[in-house]
Amino acid sequence: MTDLTNLTLVQAQRALHSGECSSVELTRACLERIARLEPCIHAFITHTPQAALEAASQADLRRARWKKEGGSMLPPLLGIPLAVKDLLCLAGVRCTCGSRILENFIPPYSATAVERLLAAGMVVVGKTNTDEYAMGSSTENSAFGPTHNPWDTGRVPGGSSGGSAAALAARFVPAALGSDTGGSVRQPASYCGVVGLKPTYGRVSRYGLVAYGSSLDTVGPFTRTVADAALIFEHMAGYDRHDATSADLPVSSTCLDDNADLSGLRIGVPDEYFIAGIQPEVTNAVRTAIAVFEAQGAVVFPVSLPHTQYALPVYYLIASSEASANLARYDGIRFGARRDADNLFDLFSRTRGQNFGAEVKRRIMLGTYALSAGYYDAYYGQAQKVRTLIQRDFDKAFEQVDLIAAPVAPSTAFRFNEHLDDPLAMYLEDVFTLPANLAGVPGLAFPAGFDSAHLPIGMQLMAAPFREDILFRAGHAYQQITDWHQAAPSLP
Ligand code: GLN
Repeated sequence: MTDLTNLTLVQAQRALHSGECSSVELTRACLERIARLEPCIHAFITHTPQAALEAASQADLRRARWKKEGGSMLPPLLGIPLAVKDLLCLAGVRCTCGSRILENFIPPYSATAVERLLAAGMVVVGKTNTDEYAMGSSTENSAFGPTHNPWDTGRVPGGSSGGSAAALAARFVPAALGSDTGGSVRQPASYCGVVGLKPTYGRVSRYGLVAYGSSLDTVGPFTRTVADAALIFEHMAGYDRHDATSADLPVSSTCLDDNADLSGLRIGVPDEYFIAGIQPEVTNAVRTAIAVFEAQGAVVFPVSLPHTQYALPVYYLIASSEASANLARYDGIRFGARRDADNLFDLFSRTRGQNFGAEVKRRIMLGTYALSAGYYDAYYGQAQKVRTLIQRDFDKAFEQVDLIAAPVAPSTAFRFNEHLDDPLAMYLEDVFTLPANLAGVPGLAFPAGFDSAHLPIGMQLMAAPFREDILFRAGHAYQQITDWHQAAPSLP
């Protein structure tokens, strides 16, 4: 039998359906691989092997009963393993957000995205590592230690959803969930050589995703192929009455054509994303990929997103301001850790002072400052105005093109500690991903080559709001005639 851990989501679905393997066999193969390789990767904060095997055997029973007796359709992803970023609630399993302050927090409910995938039959094998409260680009800000990049364990997997990205690259699971506020799905997907989707803001419910920057937060999947991303997305997206910002628009089931013709598709290439300072191999790989799209019939021409240079400061003002408001709830009284004291002030300050990490404190201070009386207009208010200009750039561009092509990150995976003492250098890893969050548009990252150190290079396509279907069509067509996504890191 083929190594079950190599199956993509679509292949796993077929193998289970045809009886080639059972869910218990598939889940056990994943759990065994995790047990063997996790010491050198550390993709997970919490493992749930018992619950996974239990769910897998229930799935097998259900399938067997259905084969014998028929009846209503089986859940579409029945018995397929899934890993979930530890920022999304799963009822009854602790949700740490990579923070000491939530080390023992057990949510009583599941996030809508998780709930929908459970309803679709998926089997959760564990909660993956993340930078504390998703603030970071390397997982080095996790209170539980960093995740290692499967392509080179001396390097970061990217972040903040680095655990989920590494889990995909290491063949621990065929799919995982992450969250993307400024690039946290796309950038680690790029560093780990896998596929990552940041959906349109409002497309996937944020209910049960622990809030970081509420106007920017999105929940997105990691997979190894674009077809897999389309499949899982279809089952997690859509209106949710628990999230007031979720969009009440239909989610069509994506039927991907294996013929790689992209005739007539208009792809815009923004100069602002091909600036000096990018690793030349990244630029070359992305330009080569754009030529592949062209050869498939796409029309490629330049577009301009003139306010791109302001995205970084605007993002860090808005994200930090929203974070400072969102994190005010961790006061030692309602949630998580508590450090007792004689008076309320000391209780707050000890609880927060001793349990939040350095980066989280930096964001809280920055955000509180930007929101404070006397500075609000100059910082937060100004940032909101410039955000509107950035959104208009995208609106205008999408009047001319169907897709925008760009790098995901300016470099491939960096070494541990390389940016740790220089927050600005860390923030710069997100220059090409933040604009999509500010504008609310969807972005898809997928592998498009390797650098000379054999580290994966990712490319990014962005589309107009709610046009994930175009991203899937183009990305799938690309993967029909290239094989970057099939490369696997060599692990023992
Ligand atoms: N690295 C960015 C930040 O630290 C983005 C993180 C994210 O998307 N969650 O804010």
